[in-house]
Amino acid sequence: MDLNEYQKASRRTKMYPEKLDGGIYYSTLGLCGEAGELANKVKKIARDNNLDKEGIKGELGDILWYVASVSEEIGYSLEEIANYNLEKLNKRMEEGKISGNGDER
Ligand SMILES: [Mg+2]
Repeated sequence: MDLNEYQKASRRTKMYPEKLDGGIYYSTLGLCGEAGELANKVKKIARDNNLDKEGIKGELGDILWYVASVSEEIGYSLEEIANYNLEKLNKRMEEGKISGNGDER
């Protein structure tokens, strides 16, 4: 399955209240929530010395779902987001700017 196929398939389980015109808000807050769930699973590696790979796998999937959702809300395909990210990172690598701070490097 490619990224755009995933994005299209994932929309079949979209259940947030579009009538509130809040899709981007709902999706972004959901993404942040899932990132928090991932962080909590990773925290438990340190606390309990327990690597819950299945749990982390699940949270990464949840994050992917919301990334697809936010992307759709602003009119981008998941493939466009992935390609844009790789182009940005490759440019930074070529320019020796892969480390450091700031979006505009
Ligand atoms: Mg989750």
